[in-house]
Amino acid sequence: MEAFIQGLLTLLQTEFSSFAGLEGLVSLIELMKTDDYAWVLTVAGFGAMMGLFFPVMIFLEMMASALKGSFRWKNFKIQVLIYFTNRVVGKVITLQLGFTLFAFLHQYRFVDTSVTWYWFIYGFMVYDFSHFLQHYMAHRIRLFWCLHSTHHVPPHMNLSVSWAHFYIENFYADIIRLGICALAGLELEIMVMVYIIDSVWGHLIHTSEEILPDGRLGLLSKFLLTPSHHRVHHSRNPNYIDKNFCNLIPVYDRLFGTYQAEIEGEAPIYGVTRDVDTGSLFDVYFGETIEMLNDIKNTSGVGNKVAYLFMPPGWHPDDVVSKKYRTTKKGGPINPPF
Ligand SMILES: [Zn+2]
Ligand SMILES: [Zn+2]
Repeated sequence: MEAFIQGLLTLLQTEFSSFAGLEGLVSLIELMKTDDYAWVLTVAGFGAMMGLFFPVMIFLEMMASALKGSFRWKNFKIQVLIYFTNRVVGKVITLQLGFTLFAFLHQYRFVDTSVTWYWFIYGFMVYDFSHFLQHYMAHRIRLFWCLHSTHHVPPHMNLSVSWAHFYIENFYADIIRLGICALAGLELEIMVMVYIIDSVWGHLIHTSEEILPDGRLGLLSKFLLTPSHHRVHHSRNPNYIDKNFCNLIPVYDRLFGTYQAEIEGEAPIYGVTRDVDTGSLFDVYFGETIEMLNDIKNTSGVGNKVAYLFMPPGWHPDDVVSKKYRTTKKGGPINPPF
């Protein structure tokens, strides 16, 4: 009986550590006990340290804003809930699937590359393009926007916003990113290095204004996608909507005309244009999907219904527009289309 309870306790302890992202902390304590610093250089050790890095950073950000008296739990609550929800779902869908897909498509690569510094630069260019493409699609295809909008709902910017993702979004985004990188012939080592650097930077560009009031980073904004650029991306100001899709270097935004620097005197207003209950995990996670399903229900014709899935958010077919589009006796519009 005692052994059973002991086993149960160990199981609970392991589950809790993994669930709360505390594997890094547990392993770090083990490391301190053994003095075996080679642990940090193993894949498991590095993963555990990385797993610990962002919870610690976010905790420090919370503490810093608490010291300044500007800490509000509601600015973190939903992101933290999403993080835990995703960890549960993550138990079912693993990174292994991504690697399997990468290995499969890599057989059909168009270019042969190797692990050298110039292929590393090539890897960056390809990876950033794949990120730009999947991010652009996430904003301009309604079905994908239903998933990505979870990331855009928070009305306050801080590091925990980078946790706010619908779980399946990472899944399909990785299919596009890993798929393009595999076909472009990136070696797995380069792919993983680029992925880690890009992901770390992708988290840091969500640093709050309390911690980093001017997110332009001086001269760096000429080459890097800065927190300021990403604040623009998260804003619903008409000048800022659907801009800055890149993650690390804004080269593709400049190339495809979606680049937008922060405008002097036009502070970002974070969030989405829909009325959202930002304190409800359900509304943040599923609200956009419910609106799309309602739109599909309210239009006639299979063509219109299917088009709702793939047209940009805000698009409506003629029958819906004419229902809401009142006309004067002369036939001219008195209300602009919505
Ligand atoms: Zn976005
Ligand atoms: Zn973001």
